[in-house]
Parts: sequence; structure tokens; C-alpha cells
Amino acid sequence: MDFHFSPEEEALRTEVQAFIAQEFTEEVLADLAGGKRGRGFGPRGPAIFRKIAERGWNAIAWPEAYGGQGGSRITQFLVEEEFYRAAQVVIGGGGTGTPAVLASGTEEQKRHYVPKAISREIIFCQGYSEPQCGTDLAGVRCRATRTGEAPDAHYVVNGQKIFTTNAQVSTHIFLLVRTDPQSRRHAGLSILLVPLDTPGITVRPLYTIQNDPGGPPGTTYGEERTNEVFFDNVEVPASCLLGQEGDGWAVSQRGLNLDRVGAWRYLISVKRDEDIVNWLKSGDERAQPLRDDAAVRDKVAELWIEGQLCRLMTMRSMTIEQRHATFSYEGAAEKVWAPEHGVRATEAIAQMLGPHAQLLNGSPENVQDGLYAHNLLSAFQSTVNHGSVQVMRDQIARKGLGLPKPAK
Ligand SMILES: Cc1cc2nc3c(=O)[nH]c(=O)nc-3n(C[C@H](O)[C@H](O)[C@H](O)COP(=O)(O)OP(=O)(O)OC[C@H]3O[C@@H](n4cnc5c(N)ncnc54)[C@H](O)[C@@H]3O)c2cc1C
Repeated sequence: MDFHFSPEEEALRTEVQAFIAQEFTEEVLADLAGGKRGRGFGPRGPAIFRKIAERGWNAIAWPEAYGGQGGSRITQFLVEEEFYRAAQVVIGGGGTGTPAVLASGTEEQKRHYVPKAISREIIFCQGYSEPQCGTDLAGVRCRATRTGEAPDAHYVVNGQKIFTTNAQVSTHIFLLVRTDPQSRRHAGLSILLVPLDTPGITVRPLYTIQNDPGGPPGTTYGEERTNEVFFDNVEVPASCLLGQEGDGWAVSQRGLNLDRVGAWRYLISVKRDEDIVNWLKSGDERAQPLRDDAAVRDKVAELWIEGQLCRLMTMRSMTIEQRHATFSYEGAAEKVWAPEHGVRATEAIAQMLGPHAQLLNGSPENVQDGLYAHNLLSAFQSTVNHGSVQVMRDQIARKGLGLPKPAK
């Protein structure tokens, strides 16, 4: 097995790095930081994304027929890695919704949604969790009732979603609803792709522990806010249905597995280690005694090894996707290892830096504008969102190790 990138891939990485060095000025980075915070990209964002698209780096692995480049998943990985590391932007080919449209959509849906998702005219947020069901997602109560006959058939949606991250800057919600009122659990669910400007939808902010408008750009965990989304007799055309009616569980699970894979997903957790190593090498006078400390050197080396494992697991998942093979436990394994590594790294960094690590931006004694303090507040949430690590472990036990479901 050869883990090296090919000379062509390495050349592409160098080209992307040179682009970033030239184009990602302080002003551009500040504008892009708003995207990570859930505030939307600043005025320079669209021009930068256009330049990236002109170079053919957007959605590298997605089919050409829908606006992608038809390239390899590994090339996609490499480009994603560079852009996420530099500015925490996800360059097409990842994220919520579109991978599921590619996996389960009709030809018409793929032609409509995918090119617009690549150009960021369409942005999906994920409407799974409800106040009574997060882990226990099969308990979804949000209802969609089909009325009328083709070509005028439509769904009327009523209910509530919670923790709908980025709903305030998205155009569509990838919505898990119960279409069969008699059904229970996993049966009778469907996915609707609902435009968020449809009358009857209300988005309300739900602020997180990271709600600090003056916080440093570059914290990698979570946003300042997530949302509650309410549906009050919301009418959408039946053409918004993704996959078959009643097959929503399978459609959503396929989408979730694809959503969990990507260089940016592992970097959310691993960027911590890279940041602290860069700081230890920096000219900050507080860094020197630490970088000479054997215990610190030992710890950062250990974190680096763990981080490399996150990266290799991601690359394995990408090759599974490249081969169009099916995931069984691999996405779940990544979803346990990377976030838990992130928590371990954040805590270890806090121990290395001592009390300074807990100082937020605004405090003169802080380190890197309070970056590590923000991460301390928020690393834990990545072990819960997108499916908690406990639930992922159960999936690994069943699908990876073949253990039967526990007796009730
Ligand atoms: C910052 C953030 C952003 C999010 N963004 C989105 C989003 O965009 N869209 C969306 O749909 N959802 C989103 N979520 C919701 C997220 O998916 C849920 O929080 C998660 O699935 C857990 O559900 P819950 O909050 O209802 O907790 P619960 O289901 O009540 O679980 C609480 C704890 O109990 C554990 N637990 C529960 N059942 C079991 C079991 N059977 N065995 C072992 N342990 C168990 C869980 O692992 C967890 O640790 C987000 C959450 C957060 C924190």
C-alpha cells in the first residue's frame, strides 16, 4: 500500500498553496471567517469563490454533468485540506444535502440542485433533530401531508426542528418528515428539500456558548448560533421529495455517511494540534520555555500521531467513496476518533499553556487572541452533533463487529 500522493497531486497542492498565499489577504480571511461563524461570508467572499471555481478546484470529485470536475476523491481531499487549513472554508464537494441529492435524486433534481450548490446559490441546512428526538431520530414527529394530484400535488408541513445549524444563512432545509401518519419509527419517513423562504417557516436563533461576536477568527468548533425552525402549514410542491416517499430513513442515512467524510471534517479536530505547534515555533516569548520542555514535546508528538490517524481514516473513507463501495462502520469510527481527539488535544493544550489558555480575546494576557479558550468552551459539542459518539460506538459494535442488537 502506497500512502504517498502522486507527483501530479503534489504539484496541485503546491499550486493551491501558492494561490492561498497570494489571495488570502488579512481582509479576505476576515471576510471568510464570517462563514464559519454562521454570519455569511463578507463582501470579498464571492470573488474568491469565483477565482477558485475558475481554476477548476470546486467540487473536484463531483460529476462533470452537474458542474463538478469529474476528478478523484483523493484530489478533492487534498484541495479541501489546504483551503480548510488556511481559512476554514469548505470548497465544494462536501457538506450537507448535495451528496445526498447526488446519491438519491432524480436526474432533474441533480441538474437543478448540484450546480447551484457548487456556485453557492443553494445552501442546505440539515433538518433532522427535533426537541424530542436527536439521538433517537426515528422518533421524528414533524409531519408532511400529501394533497392534490399530479402535476399540482404538494406537501403541507407542520412541526418543529431544533439545532438547525446555519438555517439563518441557508436557502434550503434538508428536511426529515413523517409522511405516513400511521407509521412508527424508521418507516413512513421522507426527505423534502424545502426552500427556506416558503411562507409559514420561522427561523429563531439558539445561541451557543461560542456566542462571542468579537471572538477570534479561526476557532474551528461550532458556530455562534444554531436555530429552531418552525413549520406552520408550509406548502411545498411534491417535486421537493428526495427519493421515494417513505424511504426517508435510507435516503438520510446515505446522506449522513457522505456528509461525515471530508478533509475538513477531520481538520475541525486536528487543526488544534497544528495551531499549537505553529505557536510553539513562533516568536512569542512565552512559547520558548514550553518548546524546550520535554513533557510538552512528548505531548505534542503524541497528539500529532493521533491526528495522523484521523487523517488516514478520512482517506480510507474517501477511497471507499471513490470505489462506490458501501460504508458499514468507517464513517462512525471517524466520528468517534476525530472529535474525541479534539477534546483530548484541547485539554492537553490547556494544561501546557496554563491559565493563559483560558483567557478570551480582549484579555491582554491571552494566547492567540483567545483561540484556545474558545476551543476549550466548544470542543465537547463536536462529540454530540452529527450523531453522538455513544451512538457511533453502537454502530461500530453492530455493523463493524457484527454484535447483535442488545436484548431489551
Ligand atoms: C452545535 C450543534 C449543532 C447541531 N447541528 C444540527 C443540525 O444542523 N441539524 C440537526 O438536525 N441537528 C443538529 N444538532 C443536533 C444533534 O444531532 C443532536 O444534539 C444529537 O443527535 C444528540 O441529540 P440530543 O441533543 O437530543 O441528545 P440526546 O439524544 O438526549 O442524547 C443525550 C446524550 O445521551 C446519549 N444517548 C442517548 N441515547 C443513547 C443510547 N441509546 N445509548 C447510549 N447513549 C445514548 C447521547 O449519546 C448523548 O450523549 C446539533 C447539535 C449541536 C450540539
